Amino acid sequence: MRIQIDSDKCQGHNRCYALAPELFDVDDYGSALVLNEGIVPAELEDKARLAIANCPEFAISEAD
Ligand code: SF4
Repeated sequence: MRIQIDSDKCQGHNRCYALAPELFDVDDYGSALVLNEGIVPAELEDKARLAIANCPEFAISEAD
């Protein structure tokens, strides 16, 4: 599984980082970014899906 963030949609609530700090970080401007080029280890896939479901801006998606 691989995830991506649409930086045009991200409003920097940091909910993703709060839910899954193993998968997300926040830049100096408060925008979220994916760690490890968005590659999600199998054991963190549930957390990735939780973050996708909880992003209020629908900015996180599963990459092709
Ligand atoms: S939860 Fe969504 S809008 Fe908020 S920082 Fe993460 S990607 Fe951006």
